Amino acid sequence: MRLILLAASLLFVSFIPIQRSTAADIVFKNGNVYTANDQTPKAQAIAVKADKIVFVGTNAAAQKFVGPNTRVVDLKGRTVLPGFTDAHQHLSGVGQREMTLNLEGTTSLEDLLAKVKARVDQAKPGAWVTGRGWIETHWQPPVFPTRSDLDKVSPNNPVILGRADGHGAVANSAALKLANVDKSTPNPFGGEISKDKQSGEPNGMLLDAAQGLVRRRVPPSTKEDDEREVVLGAKRDVELGWTQVQDAGGDYGDVDIFKKLYAAGTLKLRIYKAVYGPGPQANRLLTEGPIIGEFGNRLTVRSIKVVSDGALGSRGAALLGPYSDAPDTSGFLTVKAEDLRPMLIDALKKGIQVETHAIGDRANRFILDEYETALKAVPVSERKVAEPRWRVEHAQIVNPADIPRFAKLGIIPSMQPSHAIGDLFFAPSRLGIPRLNGSYAWESFIKSGVVVPGGSDAPVERGEPMIEFYAAVARKDQKGFSGDGWHPEEAVTREQALKMFTIWPAYAAFEDKLRGTIEVGKLADLTILSADIMTIPELEILKTRCVMTVINGEIVHEAS
Ligand SMILES: [Zn+2]
Repeated sequence: MRLILLAASLLFVSFIPIQRSTAADIVFKNGNVYTANDQTPKAQAIAVKADKIVFVGTNAAAQKFVGPNTRVVDLKGRTVLPGFTDAHQHLSGVGQREMTLNLEGTTSLEDLLAKVKARVDQAKPGAWVTGRGWIETHWQPPVFPTRSDLDKVSPNNPVILGRADGHGAVANSAALKLANVDKSTPNPFGGEISKDKQSGEPNGMLLDAAQGLVRRRVPPSTKEDDEREVVLGAKRDVELGWTQVQDAGGDYGDVDIFKKLYAAGTLKLRIYKAVYGPGPQANRLLTEGPIIGEFGNRLTVRSIKVVSDGALGSRGAALLGPYSDAPDTSGFLTVKAEDLRPMLIDALKKGIQVETHAIGDRANRFILDEYETALKAVPVSERKVAEPRWRVEHAQIVNPADIPRFAKLGIIPSMQPSHAIGDLFFAPSRLGIPRLNGSYAWESFIKSGVVVPGGSDAPVERGEPMIEFYAAVARKDQKGFSGDGWHPEEAVTREQALKMFTIWPAYAAFEDKLRGTIEVGKLADLTILSADIMTIPELEILKTRCVMTVINGEIVHEAS
């Protein structure tokens, strides 16, 4: 007995030190692995040690990474992709949608009013009712709700409900009264108070900056609410398979919340954060400099988000010509060139990325012109980051003459596939068929020589990776429908779609050496799915579920 024990302990002593050098923390075996690395696109097994990938290859070769303390995960043929990244999301907004009246999927005006009534019935007298997520596109008729619709279910409680796109909201009379908005209130810069054509009274719809007139009357959320939004938003993201979100706007208050939650270990999701500019938040980033890769490469703040126009649905997108279905308007720009110019110059000198929301063809041309002027004014020798990787968020309606300018200037169009399959129901009437050439033009952009990071823009859209992947490759609605002027040739291949949600957003965040593919030495972020979205019929992509999410080598979500 003693001899055996002695032999065992000798074995133990001599065995472990050797194993310790090669043994991985986790070995994933029997996987259907797509690496998004063109040199070795497929694999069976992955070994992970600490936060990094240490092996990618065959099951047999992975065996030498299995030590006594290695967790071996048998994937049973499931599909493994590099950790999905949402290149454009509003994380707090996603959480807020979970916490307030969530109007996603509202099927009609009556449905909307029923949901509002149920909430109003529970509200204290005079308390605000806020919500978000309605979209009238598929209602009969597809028209915006009005203050008088809301007054029927909420005569006393003030109500404001954001359209899914965030660029419009409907308020009831009680809310407009509290905000002193009436027929004589002028439109604020960058916004519009919709008025009844006959009476000239506000009809309840507030576009873009005009929403602020009412929203500033809503009691501010508490610090606990703000933290809870981030926690809930991140929880939903990780469960859906997102490993990083690129948070398109916000302020240092958000950054403080992220830091607190990371420090406490309650936040695992990676966040690449932008703050709004021009203005005090951007100035702070320009003065203090970026935050790069804190909390185990989870938190980076190095980008300024500019908003240059509104959205197409609410006719706030700035177009080069009038709207086809509203010839008296061509939308509006929401930033002044004289405010933008000094900030762009400063950003180049200090190595700060700029990402600008531009939806209409006029906004896209405007921002390309402004970027071009700044890039010419600050030569590479005077830039902190030679290749600034500035971005245009959405790049939705682009005059075909402007598409090649992105590649020429090194500008990245960051696009959201689900916008196309939602917007294409009303885009033909807003724009007319000819102007759809160059709209949601993913494949034209890729062919022009740029990368196209893909995002969801949640809570504007639902924020589900499978909806985005499907929209990118199918360019049809979720029932498989495609209409006139939808330009099916702008759909992308599955290999391109995979890059849109992995290596291309990593590139757009200066992280392409760090993550975005399944390669030895990169951070171990994996999205593991119930089906092979690279080969299954298009509509089955929508039924595919995330079964496991790995961030920094840690399994942060495992479906039961
Ligand atoms: Zn957005």
